This record gives sequence, structure tokens and C-alpha cells, in this order.
Amino acid sequence: MMAKRGHKVYIWEKEDHIGGALKLATLPPGKEKLQWLLDYYSNMTKKLGIQISLNKEATEENIDNFIPDTVILAYGSRAFIPPIKGINNKNSITFEKILNGTIKITNKKVIVGGGGLVGCETALYLASKGNDVTILEMLSEIAGGMEKISKNYLLKELSEGNVKYFVNSPIKEITENFVIFGEGNSIEMDYFVVSFGGVSDHNLYEKTKTKYETYLIGDALKPNKIIDAVHTGFAIGKIV
Ligand SMILES: Cc1cc2nc3c(=O)[nH]c(=O)nc-3n(C[C@H](O)[C@H](O)[C@H](O)COP(=O)(O)OP(=O)(O)OC[C@H]3O[C@@H](n4cnc5c(N)ncnc54)[C@H](O)[C@@H]3O)c2cc1C
Repeated sequence: MMAKRGHKVYIWEKEDHIGGALKLATLPPGKEKLQWLLDYYSNMTKKLGIQISLNKEATEENIDNFIPDTVILAYGSRAFIPPIKGINNKNSITFEKILNGTIKITNKKVIVGGGGLVGCETALYLASKGNDVTILEMLSEIAGGMEKISKNYLLKELSEGNVKYFVNSPIKEITENFVIFGEGNSIEMDYFVVSFGGVSDHNLYEKTKTKYETYLIGDALKPNKIIDAVHTGFAIGKIV
């Protein structure tokens, strides 16, 4: 996002739609109402006359050509891909491609690697498409870090969807037909889904901040939750 003093604000979005991870967050079962938040931002940006340029990537060169007064970087995080043998195999797919429908899987055996919120919700989504789903999590619990009420509800939904999970189960290798995990255990599968959380990349920020008043907000600052993205954005909006 680019802001210029005198209340002229420009948003540059590299994709052909706004919404980022929030758009993906609306797609698992039961999360449809998050679309309301997206609709709100879509309406408010129109109402406030904010110019949104789609298919426009913020790069160092593009920013320099624009000569902004202030730059607010809100480019989110990227998927963390750990160096597990076989993670780049053809049958290994990121959660994003599953949720946004790029790859459709039905009635298959699927292993979801990573049992955070996103892994659990992707597992639910896959189960709703008739897949036999198992989550592998290296920590001692799935959906760790979620507050209790939502977590219990999510666990209930996973159980109703017959989603199985193993904790304390670091993944060692992904082959064409098996995932090897823990101390020499293995499970048969057709597809492996990568959901190991996100990482922030501060590269563009480091370059931009030497030339312009620059702020980093939301998941670009640190992968987190909607509330954190809204808070950091609001705080910067107040001072710019
Ligand atoms: C499946 C899923 C479920 C989730 N569920 C919840 C939930 O229930 N509750 C919750 O609080 N949080 C949830 N989250 C997390 C939440 O969606 C994020 O914390 C939040 O969307 C972060 O907002 P952001 O604007 O910082 O980044 P993002 O939403 O990632 O937006 C970044 C945007 O920047 C664009 N972009 C990237 N690089 C560039 C560039 N160089 N130039 C121009 N544009 C660029 C991207 O295309 C994207 O549109 C979920 C996330 C996922 C993936």
C-alpha cells in the first residue's frame, strides 16, 4: 500500500483481486462470514476514494518511479517450506492451491503437514470434499495458540469430519505414496498438503526505508492474525 500526504492514498495489489490471506480465510467450512470484513474494506476503500491498482506489484523500481512521500508495506507473509526430502514432489501441494481451488482433490488419502489453524482448516475443507485426511504435527498439540472456545469447536469439527491427527510427529520424508514421520512411522497417501505457517520477508522494507518514510504492517511485519493486521494498520494510519 502506498500513502501520499494530502490524503491521497494508493493501494497496489499484485494479484487480480484484493483480500490476500483474508480471502483464503473465508474458504474453509464455517468461515464464510469473514467475507463480511472483506466486503467492508472493499466498500470503504471505494467510499474514501482510495485508488486500487490490481496486478501492480510493489517493487523497489516501481516505488522509486512513483516517488511517494510515505510507503506502507502490507504484503503479507509467504508459505514456509521446510527442507523435508520430497517436499517438492508432484503430489506435494500448498494449502493455498487447495483452498483457492487451483487443485481439486476428492475421495483421496491426504496428509496435511502442519497442524496450526491453517492446516486444521485446510484438513476440514478436504474432509468436506470426501477425502480421508490425517494431520501430522510436530508439536504436542494441534491448533496450538488458538483461544480455548474456538479451538474446542475446531477440534469437534475435525472429529465430526473424521479427520485424524498425530502430534509429536515431525515429518522426515515425503515419497510418492508414503509420508515417513516420527520414529520410523509411515502412512500411505495420494497427496501431501504443505501447511507449515508463514514467514515474513523484510527485504523490500530494508531497501525502501533508506529512501522514504516506510512502515511495515500486518503479516509482513510478523505472521499473525487479522486483529494484528488491523491494529498495526490503524496505528500507522493515525500517524501518517
Ligand atoms: C486459511 C487461512 C485462515 C485464516 N483464518 C484466520 C482467522 O480465522 N482469524 C484470524 O485472525 N486470522 C486468520 N488468518 C490469518 C489472516 O488472514 C492474516 O493474518 C491477515 O490476512 C494478514 O493480513 P495482511 O494484510 O497483513 O496480509 P495478507 O492478507 O497476506 O495480504 C497481503 C496482500 O499483499 C499482496 N502482495 C504481496 N506482495 C506484494 C507486492 N510486492 N506488491 C503488491 N502486493 C503484494 C498479496 O497478494 C496480498 O493480497 C487466516 C489465514 C489463512 C491463510
